[in-house]
Amino acid sequence: MSLPADLHMHTPLCRHAAGEPVDYARCAVEAGLTEIGFSDHSPMPRDDFDDWRMLDRQLDEYVAKVRLAQREFPQLTIRLALEVDYLPGHESWIRALAARHPWDYFIGSVHYVSESWDIDNPAKLSEWKKRDAFAVWQAYFDRLTLAAASGLFEIIGHADLPKKFGIRPQQDCTPLYEKFLAAAAQAGCAMELNTAGLRKDCKEIYPSRPLLQLAFQKNVPVTFGSDAHAPGEVGMNFADAVALARSVGYTESCRFRQRRREFVSF
Ligand SMILES: [Zn+2]
Ligand SMILES: [Zn+2]
Repeated sequence: MSLPADLHMHTPLCRHAAGEPVDYARCAVEAGLTEIGFSDHSPMPRDDFDDWRMLDRQLDEYVAKVRLAQREFPQLTIRLALEVDYLPGHESWIRALAARHPWDYFIGSVHYVSESWDIDNPAKLSEWKKRDAFAVWQAYFDRLTLAAASGLFEIIGHADLPKKFGIRPQQDCTPLYEKFLAAAAQAGCAMELNTAGLRKDCKEIYPSRPLLQLAFQKNVPVTFGSDAHAPGEVGMNFADAVALARSVGYTESCRFRQRRREFVSF
């Protein structure tokens, strides 16, 4: 039984990750992985939108770095992808991005619940104190549902990201999960098990077991991602993620080539 592909990792172009793609690839081989995918933070229509992504003019450089890793590690399958921020109104920008290179897949992620608040940004933690936690989760899952339904993404990233800092609403979030998962199932969009949550205050894989259980019931497929921002994080805690996925019933995960999906047992 081999480890599932690690489909979520970054490069220094996003300005908050360390190590070149070749370094991530070397670590992947050492960790016993047979397939990885780079999914760095995509450019925005405006380069000054924020300071934690590659600039638009760096997109070709990004692709070249991934191609270099592919050439240096022929024994490892290395996919070319992006983690794309979903904001309502950005659909045509995302379609244009998709046309610029032969991507293997897009991870659609919601970090922004408004034009200016990226809820996982530690520098903006004080924003959480100004708002009702449930209202934030509602706004977040409304966008995540739109992202899943958009057909722009093969995978939805870190589905319950609002738990990152351990701030959780008192209310039952099941209806929010149901709406999002119905959209994902309808669109044939996968959800990732992202082990980065284990390295954050929430100390839990994204998504939580209840959300993953519902996903299995609704036939939403899964992928695995370390969300590595350093080479040493590649494949991190994959045994835990595989155990969690198995415990709710999953036996296979997806991988992608040229935006076509394939299922692999794990
Ligand atoms: Zn990042
Ligand atoms: Zn992300």
